[in-house]
Amino acid sequence: APSADDALLAGLNPQQRQAVEYRGSALLIVAGAGSGKTSVLTRRIASLIDRREAWPSQILAITFTNKAATEMRERVQALLGNTADGMWISTFHSACVRILRREAESIGKTANFTIYDSGDTRALIKRIVKDLDADTLGFTVAGVSGKISKLKNELSDVETYARSANLSDPQEVMFLEIFRQYTKALRSANAFDFDDLISETVFLFRAFPRVAALYQRRFRHILVDEYQDTNHAQYSLIRELTMPIAPAIADDLEQQGLHVRALQDAVGVVPGASLTVVGDSDQSIYAFRGADIRNIVEFERDFPGAKVVLLEQNYRSTQNILSAANAVIANNFDRKDKKLWTAVGDGEKIVGFTGYSGHDEAQFVADEIEKLHANGMDYRDIAVFYRTNAQTRALEEIFIRSALPYRIMGGTKFYERAEIKDSMAYLIAVANPDDMLALRRILNTPKRGIGPATETQLGSYAGDNGITFREAMRDAGSLGLGPKVTNAILQLSALLDEAAAKADPTAPAGASPVADVLTFLLDQSGYLEALRSSRDPQDEARAENVEELVAVTKEFARNNPDGGLIDFLTEVSLVAAADEIDDSSGTVSLMTLHTAKGLEYDAVFLTGVEEDLLPHRMSAGEPGGPAEERRLFYVGITRAKKRLFLSLAMTRAQFGETAVAMPSRYLQEIPADLIDWKQSPGSATSRGGTQPRALNARRPGSRWGEETGQRNFGAAALDRPKAEWPNRITATVRDNGDLELAAGDRIRHTDFGDGRVTAVTGEGTKRVAHVQFEKAGTKKLLIKIAPIEKL
Ligand code: ATP
Ligand code: MG
Repeated sequence: APSADDALLAGLNPQQRQAVEYRGSALLIVAGAGSGKTSVLTRRIASLIDRREAWPSQILAITFTNKAATEMRERVQALLGNTADGMWISTFHSACVRILRREAESIGKTANFTIYDSGDTRALIKRIVKDLDADTLGFTVAGVSGKISKLKNELSDVETYARSANLSDPQEVMFLEIFRQYTKALRSANAFDFDDLISETVFLFRAFPRVAALYQRRFRHILVDEYQDTNHAQYSLIRELTMPIAPAIADDLEQQGLHVRALQDAVGVVPGASLTVVGDSDQSIYAFRGADIRNIVEFERDFPGAKVVLLEQNYRSTQNILSAANAVIANNFDRKDKKLWTAVGDGEKIVGFTGYSGHDEAQFVADEIEKLHANGMDYRDIAVFYRTNAQTRALEEIFIRSALPYRIMGGTKFYERAEIKDSMAYLIAVANPDDMLALRRILNTPKRGIGPATETQLGSYAGDNGITFREAMRDAGSLGLGPKVTNAILQLSALLDEAAAKADPTAPAGASPVADVLTFLLDQSGYLEALRSSRDPQDEARAENVEELVAVTKEFARNNPDGGLIDFLTEVSLVAAADEIDDSSGTVSLMTLHTAKGLEYDAVFLTGVEEDLLPHRMSAGEPGGPAEERRLFYVGITRAKKRLFLSLAMTRAQFGETAVAMPSRYLQEIPADLIDWKQSPGSATSRGGTQPRALNARRPGSRWGEETGQRNFGAAALDRPKAEWPNRITATVRDNGDLELAAGDRIRHTDFGDGRVTAVTGEGTKRVAHVQFEKAGTKKLLIKIAPIEKL
């Protein structure tokens, strides 16, 4: 058969080609943003398979998000021209879940374990902190969960912690007790938290070398993207997986029919898998989650004989964008200087903008997006980044009003909504009857007259008799409760049993689809009916969300014809920050800077480039905090291919207050001639020339005058009476749903003034008026909420 080799290597530069073709045991590719690290990893996988050096099933590739995994799989398949089934391309978490489900029994769990997300974890910790009165000692849920997470990322469990803890310190004793109870609760609920997924897999491999050997034998080639953001637990996992297999264990495997002879060397050892890692220490942005930059720095020491390949050509961005990125990151000391260059040409200048408020800034972003779009750029090639989720409020408000299609990546929070958590809790209670958290959640949801006292009674009955909460529910008759309450518990119990029978894959008729099980639970429990018949207007939206979840289960069934209830629950619990449920194209993407890692867009809007946001105020006290924030800024800049917009506001509404904002220190680090600062578009018209002097003073000046500009700016902003700062966000909650509009009508808009409707498109609540304003140009407005009146 003709080799795809030429196609696989086509267009690669010599260093990239070397990285694809190298065949030693360990390879480190270090390079700046956009130099083709991820592309090289992808081609390397394809090349290994294409040259018959590996079966797809011998490949384990680790990406940072599920989305990146899907993309990599599709690229490999496109390069090979066929499907490469059996390849594991996934995140650390997904790979570990697969291993743990198979091997759960070895570590005292069953394969139907639940995965607790951060919300579940917080709920559990909250209860423990309350039970132990630990809040009186100053313990907070966030503090405790952060500390537990950190310990787990360092592979420290309760016993290890107890050994090193100072037991004469009441704080430490209390924390130890919380940690112990938390661990116990997870264990009895047959549940893992997110960090456990990695650390428990490491413990599993260490405790059971024969189990580890199964995976060491299977995965002959391990490749890791974004290696700079691995933490100690993840690093250890890779070490375990790339360990050689000792002769005695190799013999065992051979006897079980798992052939290893071909892999063994002269003395009977099966050498460890080949390991390829790629990373950029300038893009390390997860230190707060325990990511350890040393993993990359010390790679050569950890894997002796490792080959290091440097990539220096950037294929993503224009020279102007790259120069800005290089100039910014050069301010971090303690780093190796990289010579990143591009052949793309200078491109356009970076555009800078200072708005009066976050709202003003958002209007600028929306206007510029419309201009890009009018000039032929697809919405899907445009992204807007921000440091904190709170910043989306102003952006969304304006985007909706301008009828600009957008989606928020990672921030969907869909699965965090109460009604979705309730519905999921029903499914979890069916899949994993040990999960007390799920059972307690649904016990009186919808209301069935089972109060908190009864719940506590069930809990202590279970504890006293050494049975699970679920078994206590079955036993409700022996608790001496009133007949009504007893009945309610038994009914719920029977409902769960019936649903479990439906979901059981070993049943004669096979398992019913997840959608059917869910619908059954929602109907029979009365949950959906309670939402539908409620007088709370929000419950209508909640019912719609629940129906959306049913749609998700149906879509799951289409994509995973063999997938059962547990597969569905796994998939949902692993929806990571950068992953979206609905990957609809044709929309502008909004996301946090952390989520943006590894992605690229033609045009990037980096908003809120202000002190306290970027660097974030929380980073100030952290050692290395401002340097990490600078890397985050660097990650943001380097996502842009052609156009980069940096924007900020002079005042920012946060925590219900409007505070004066200062330009970020990082802006001064960008050479002045790279940025073209624009005027605030609203300043001349709607505010009648009242713009602060300092704003003018700063704009033409190419560099921020730290001494003059910022101080004047702050003073000028404070001089302005508060009432003059418009808070249009709250002022525009309105409903024009019934407003009749047609082409030719004249309207008045509170911000844009008078204009004429040129067309009306869309239907119902999505009707959009296209308006030619006398002063503000053409705009598209969502009629339902636009602040307009017909003249
Ligand atoms: P990041 O550090 O942001 O993760 P990266 O180093 O992983 O970046 P890639 O995403 O692999 O970089 O590549 C950046 C862009 O350059 C992609 O659009 C990719 O297709 C393109 N690219 C990479 N190598 C080449 C090449 N040899 N010729 C043309 N385009 C290339
Ligand atoms: Mg990459």
